[in-house]
Amino acid sequence: MAGDREFDFIVIGAGIAGASAGFELSAVGRVALLEREDQPGYHTTGRSAALYIQSYGNQTVRALTVGSWEFYTDPPAGFAEQPLLNDRGVLFVGRPDQIAELDRLAAETRPLAPHIQRLDASAARSLVPVLRADALGGAVLDSQAMEIDVNALHQGYLRGLKARGGAVVTRAEVRGLQPGTGRWQVETKAGTFTAPVVVNAAGAWCDEIAELAGATPVGLVPKRRTAITFDPPPGLDTRNWPLTVSVAEDFYFKPDSGRLMGSPAEETPMPPCDVQPDEIDIAIAVDRIQSATTLEIRRIHNSWAGLRTFDPDKTHVAGFDPQCEGFFWLAGQGGFGIQTAPAMGRLTAALATGGPLPEDLAALGVTAEALSPARFA
Ligand SMILES: Cc1cc2nc3c(=O)[nH]c(=O)nc-3n(C[C@H](O)[C@H](O)[C@H](O)COP(=O)(O)OP(=O)(O)OC[C@H]3O[C@@H](n4cnc5c(N)ncnc54)[C@H](O)[C@@H]3O)c2cc1C
Repeated sequence: MAGDREFDFIVIGAGIAGASAGFELSAVGRVALLEREDQPGYHTTGRSAALYIQSYGNQTVRALTVGSWEFYTDPPAGFAEQPLLNDRGVLFVGRPDQIAELDRLAAETRPLAPHIQRLDASAARSLVPVLRADALGGAVLDSQAMEIDVNALHQGYLRGLKARGGAVVTRAEVRGLQPGTGRWQVETKAGTFTAPVVVNAAGAWCDEIAELAGATPVGLVPKRRTAITFDPPPGLDTRNWPLTVSVAEDFYFKPDSGRLMGSPAEETPMPPCDVQPDEIDIAIAVDRIQSATTLEIRRIHNSWAGLRTFDPDKTHVAGFDPQCEGFFWLAGQGGFGIQTAPAMGRLTAALATGGPLPEDLAALGVTAEALSPARFA
């Protein structure tokens, strides 16, 4: 039936970006969320480290993270059965030659997150005793950094969207986008859908979707990041360790379901794809973590990789395309797409319906100009 295919908003991509935007938009109109894979979350959303860190990223990213806090800690009634955030903490560590970087990080992040503390090396080692004394100059502790229940957040959005009358259509790869008279015709493997507004939330594929629509790509670069899991030393209780990340972000590790998860924190440019880990990155992760700690990684239990997709200034892209009417960008989430999803979902619903930025986000310093795709024109 034609009515089943006519919507107010079509959102392309059912990762966390599309799901959060689709949920918020479904409060004001009928939404179709179109996903190429069998399962929403198969790509980057299902492969993250699941952290919420207010001191991470540039000023706009930090503001969007702070602006997501309220949703995380007080979601709508019935959204999730368990808390969306759990205590974790993040310890940024630096070698003796990286003290200036630690000082800068503490100074930059305190205005938005006053709880952030500068620690000396011995205080840092009391939190993570495997840190090598000779490789540690000091640390910065963000004790309010949290671990996100990504599955609960993602499923909450998808469930909420459906409860508000929206449709989630999987195996619906978008293959063509035609601007009709006031309505986009979106051709997919599962048939044609129409709506006056299309939201491009296809993650690493956002520039490809833009080309299908006749819009100019913004210059997105997907970058591979690898993760491994391994056993902690026998007899050591690691459950309450914070995430430990080098201040230069060239390795990290954290507790993960009785094991430790680690990463070389690489950013290897790749074309959009179903990315797999590379042996060399696994070896680099092991080497960097062992150099900074007394951990001995004898066996890798699991490894995976995901694409973190960045635009040239490493800030999200959100807003209507300047040339292509009714084509809304929601791209460039980089390494912050989960922690900022609640703010970005609200912001997308506001801007895609022609409204101003949500007041709380504007008060935090977020501007439509800083996110607009027009900044790359
Ligand atoms: C190792 C790693 C660690 C990370 N750690 C964190 C972290 O701790 N905290 C944090 O906030 N972020 C983290 N991130 C980043 C975060 O995971 C991403 O920013 C976020 O998942 C991006 O979500 P997305 O919805 O834009 O993309 P995706 O989840 O990739 O979703 C895009 C969807 O679009 C679909 N799609 C593409 N093309 C089409 C088409 N033609 N038709 C229909 N559908 C299409 C894809 O199938 C996909 O499902 C990490 C990422 C990695 C890889």
